[in-house]
Amino acid sequence: MVETRLIDGKAAAQALRARVAAAAAALKAQHAIVPGLAAVLVGADPSSEIYVRGKAKATRAAGLDSVEHRLPAAAGEAELLRLVAALNADPAVDGILVQLPLPAQIDPHRVIEAIDPAKDVDGFHPQNVGRLWSGGRAMVPCTPYGCLMLLRQTLGSLTGAEAVVLGRSNIVGKPMAALLLAENCSVGLAHSKSRDLPAIARRADILVAAVGRPELVRGGWIKPGATVIDVGVNRLPGADGKSRLVGDVAFAEAQGVAGAITPVPGGVGPMTIACLLRNTLIAACRRRGIAEPAL
Ligand code: NAP
Repeated sequence: MVETRLIDGKAAAQALRARVAAAAAALKAQHAIVPGLAAVLVGADPSSEIYVRGKAKATRAAGLDSVEHRLPAAAGEAELLRLVAALNADPAVDGILVQLPLPAQIDPHRVIEAIDPAKDVDGFHPQNVGRLWSGGRAMVPCTPYGCLMLLRQTLGSLTGAEAVVLGRSNIVGKPMAALLLAENCSVGLAHSKSRDLPAIARRADILVAAVGRPELVRGGWIKPGATVIDVGVNRLPGADGKSRLVGDVAFAEAQGVAGAITPVPGGVGPMTIACLLRNTLIAACRRRGIAEPAL
């Protein structure tokens, strides 16, 4: 039986936020710059509201500027593109975040491609995606970068490890695979059409689950001693009528098998917002040719 270590994403995120706050204070003192993040929310999706509010609060707490722009749910694509163009042109805005999903009448690809890649703090613009895969200086998507930070903190070097990512979304799975490849892992990327998912997962020294299926990954899917990063956030009805959050990994079954695992909540989630602040600060430095702090 393996002793399973808990990877504390909350503590890691707090430490990263403190490093961002210190770097922001130095930018202000030395260059009179306060990096600014603009969040755009179309419609009033309740979970998007919660995310945007949480992001704004964390942004201000780190000493960065935060502005929110709200458009009605019926807003057209042209209206949103006009707003993005205005934010691209605004020198006080270093990072632009358009909260997804967007209403059906708006093509998210057209909106993402309209964002200035230098201000694309989500790292979704094709120019940043290309740079990530080709080894250039990209803005890297926040959730997978947060996962990478937790992996480095847990394992040190990742070189030579067999890594398997479950899920191939543009937001998590694909950029996660690119990051692991850049760390010299041998990378497998599995999805809903993969044959024999448990066998693929069992190969992994590093297993990242990002499928959005509650507790899909069972204890028997995990190689003994593997490091497991659970990105999934799934809401299930609780016994008392309240909902409870579970990940994509059957957490209790992973105990005694995994070498280390992130909990849900308190694992990857807090790192995502901290990495958004990091990206905003880095964007502010790069746009002005100022040396980037090590974060
Ligand atoms: P997504 O866009 O829905 O993608 C899900 C991926 O999982 C797809 O590639 C899909 O395969 C694959 N998949 C679905 N069911 C599967 C199955 N039964 N077996 C194998 N693969 C399966 O989701 P996402 O945006 O990547 O998010 C994934 C999860 O992470 C969600 O729970 C989300 O809430 C969570 N998340 C958390 C954070 C955070 O900060 N903690 C951030 C982002 C997302 P196909 O491509 O074949 O359809």
